[in-house]
Amino acid sequence: MAKTLNILQKIEAAGLVGRGGARYPTAKKWSSFAQSLKNREIGYIVVNGAEGEPGIKKDAYLLAEKTEAVINGVYLANQFFGNDKIKKIYFFLKHEYHRDYSKKIKEILDTKKYRALSKKIEFFIKPESPMYICGEETAIINIISVRRAEPRLKPPFPTQSGIHNHPTLVNNVETFYDISLVGADNYEGHRLYTLGGAVKHRGVFSLPAVMSVREVLQATNNYPDFDFFVMTGGEVCGELLRSDQLQAPVEGSALVMVFDKKKTDLKKLLAYWLKFYEAESCGLCSACREGSYRLRELSQQTNYDKQLFIDLLDNLEDSSFCALGSSLSLTVKSMMENINKK
Ligand code: SF4
Repeated sequence: MAKTLNILQKIEAAGLVGRGGARYPTAKKWSSFAQSLKNREIGYIVVNGAEGEPGIKKDAYLLAEKTEAVINGVYLANQFFGNDKIKKIYFFLKHEYHRDYSKKIKEILDTKKYRALSKKIEFFIKPESPMYICGEETAIINIISVRRAEPRLKPPFPTQSGIHNHPTLVNNVETFYDISLVGADNYEGHRLYTLGGAVKHRGVFSLPAVMSVREVLQATNNYPDFDFFVMTGGEVCGELLRSDQLQAPVEGSALVMVFDKKKTDLKKLLAYWLKFYEAESCGLCSACREGSYRLRELSQQTNYDKQLFIDLLDNLEDSSFCALGSSLSLTVKSMMENINKK
């Protein structure tokens, strides 16, 4: 007789990885949380619907269209870790998502299956500023624990010591959706891609989790018939690629954004990024706090010191505390190296 797998074993067999960009195996995170809970009275679960990367709409799509499946993923987690052990479950949502979807979430939670679960659900609205970093799991833990909105050093990992120093499991909205599919044996190894920019068919598409940029453009009927370049990962924290570099896999938050080469002003694009990073730096580390400011200032000068510009980017890459600072370097360097070699 075939052995019945529990949800953690199913997640492991499915090879599920985190959807926030770091691709950390979900089964490892769950195992660590389960281990920590053995020696502790209580733990917390956070449903991360912060979606701070501009241009990404996958969590919005899931909260609007697959609400019950997301909640069912949370239900399975609560059941697996133990209803008595999980003290509270936070839906950590950006303001618009709370405004648009919390009513629907509450209605589903009010149905018979989820009524017990609903007693421990609390909505938490993501602060408006700094908007980006407030989606990072250790920053979320700080915010809920009423501390400064900045990332924490790891270890200890949130699964060991998170909200109010209790073990905390933070999973993305998309991960809970996938867990629901895994639980029902319906998971097909897909993830959600957001297609944006100068494409014919914008939107969110469910496709195999590992695909090249070219394959995603072709599968969504979006391969351009004009001179173009793309940005993958995110609209701000991503990488620019030429049309002869599309064999690269889609990484990060799975955005593919197409730019019409003739219609794109690279200077304006650079200015948009630098303004974003400067505004979004949480201020914890000087490489990012000062670097993002100096880079923006330099880029506005007519004959700026290019070597200094590159040194600042290198410094960001080497010494940023979190991925936001190093993304600035990756994004800007990809423009300099792949698109605008002057
Ligand atoms: S790189 Fe440093 S300053 Fe920038 S957001 Fe991360 S922790 Fe904050």
